[in-house]
Amino acid sequence: MTEAPREADNRVPEERSLNFIEQIVEDDIAAGRNEGRVHTRFPPEPNGYLHIGHAKSICLNFGLADKYGGKTNLRFDDTNPVTEDTEYVESIKADVRWLGFDWENEFYASDYFGRLYEFAEKLILKGLAYVDDSSAEEIAAQKGTPTEPGQESPYRNRSVEENLDLFRRMRAGEFPDGAKVLRSKIDMASPNMHLRDPIMYRIKHAHHHRTGDAWCIYPMYDFAHGQSDSIEGITHSLCTLEFEVHRPLYGWYIEKLEIFPSRQIEFSRLNLTYTVMSKRKLLQLVNEGHVRGWDDPRMPTIAGLRRRGYTPASIRDFADRIGIARRDNLIDVGLLEFCIREELNKTTHRVMAVVDERPLKVVLTNYPEGQVESVSIENNPEDSASGNRQMPFSREVYIERDDFMENPPKKYFRLSPGGMVRLKAAYIIKCEEVVKDETGEITELRCSYIPESRSGSDTSGLKVQGTIHWVSVAHALEAEVRLYDRLLTVEDPSAEEGDFKDFINPKSLEVVRAYVEPSLQEVHPGERFQFMRKGYFCVDPDTSADRMVFNRTVTLKDTWAKEQKKG
Ligand code: ATP
Ligand code: MG
Repeated sequence: MTEAPREADNRVPEERSLNFIEQIVEDDIAAGRNEGRVHTRFPPEPNGYLHIGHAKSICLNFGLADKYGGKTNLRFDDTNPVTEDTEYVESIKADVRWLGFDWENEFYASDYFGRLYEFAEKLILKGLAYVDDSSAEEIAAQKGTPTEPGQESPYRNRSVEENLDLFRRMRAGEFPDGAKVLRSKIDMASPNMHLRDPIMYRIKHAHHHRTGDAWCIYPMYDFAHGQSDSIEGITHSLCTLEFEVHRPLYGWYIEKLEIFPSRQIEFSRLNLTYTVMSKRKLLQLVNEGHVRGWDDPRMPTIAGLRRRGYTPASIRDFADRIGIARRDNLIDVGLLEFCIREELNKTTHRVMAVVDERPLKVVLTNYPEGQVESVSIENNPEDSASGNRQMPFSREVYIERDDFMENPPKKYFRLSPGGMVRLKAAYIIKCEEVVKDETGEITELRCSYIPESRSGSDTSGLKVQGTIHWVSVAHALEAEVRLYDRLLTVEDPSAEEGDFKDFINPKSLEVVRAYVEPSLQEVHPGERFQFMRKGYFCVDPDTSADRMVFNRTVTLKDTWAKEQKKG
């Protein structure tokens, strides 16, 4: 059930009809709700790097505010002291900015620990919360099942005074982890399991990355999230569909606390083929060394996509094309690749790179020894303003071994014994002799070139079918090229039994040597090129004065589907 690129909504935003959330917002504005104010938030938990799924949420939240003259807060949902880290906070901020968005306020749920604590006391005073001494196992056993009601805790009917006293002592650090919790007193028979006296606070004697040791009780997600929205005056609190069942609880707290009525609206999360998205799984890939880090170009993280060569605009375009709906689906990762290919086709210079560990040397026997001439090549045929550049041509050039076949099949338009091919932007050549070593391996092709066939002033009258790329041996620069493939071998990892790591593609990274044209002498990390006939490549940060490293962002065409059929 994948959605192929052609099925996606590729109309420009102005033409497309409103998505269901935009419709809700417009209805709210028309009804004068919140004085027509639109205030959203993006609420990451700083327990990992952002991924492409978060990008969907970021584009949605910031995009809505932009469209309706509203505001968006960045709020770190840092209520779990154990898994959170300032490294993640910094990476998240950098990634949101890189995507092209700027937040109105930077807030932390931990900023509200004092307010949340007061809210909890307020519920205790209203008789709507109680301290429970039951163990985690006992609470789980009391919970019941979706079809059977739960049982009330023996501590459920403690007096307000006792609850207040115990809760204050929980906060003061009198009890060890797990000894007590604060629960809401709602309905142990509710068909919605989240309303069966959910836990509000647990004891955790743990250091928090922002509040240090000020607290030893921490609020649960459900008690923190909606109240944080409310404190900030968030009008539309957008989250993914799995929180739909939490919505009644979100509303219950707001109603009982009589605070600003933020409204939760759910949309479907992004799932991509051949990709795992949960931070927990991505963390495993990093910690167990399956990838080189959070920014490994095979990772679906924003940092990984950036290093791979993706642009902010291509990711925003992708988010726009997939749209917003309430139905869970699996998007073809080919659509993401389509978006970057579209952009790079318009923006990158075409350069020549012989990506081959063992390129074939072609000697043009009738070309004067020692002569070097400049040939002119269009930087980007898709962009007439991009101009031309010069490239040195000489008697010896490298071509890729794949561009020659000794016994070619019919319709092979590249080089073969006695055959002719055009060297892009230069001359037509003819293969006169194949030179081999004692093992039978081809070491060199001896060719003639047709002097009248120079590109741009060809008077030879010859017609050749194939054009191949090349670099002058004397002028070529060596580079390392990293070719990436899908990190996982299965289309929908969540549908497979067993550990997702059983499906790691052992060939997801191939490192090869390349010989590139000399115009690439001084490239800088992040610069992007089209290697003619090969794909789009981007300069990796591992590049230094004496070492050039390129990442393949994406191939020129989607070769994956074909490979699958062959395989
Ligand atoms: P993960 O399961 O990957 O850890 P999460 O939902 O726990 O994701 P948060 O940091 O809590 O991650 O998420 C921040 C925001 O991003 C939330 O509003 C969440 O709903 C949204 N989000 C996370 N993953 C996706 C996704 N795959 N598609 C769309 N939105 C997402
Ligand atoms: Mg989460």
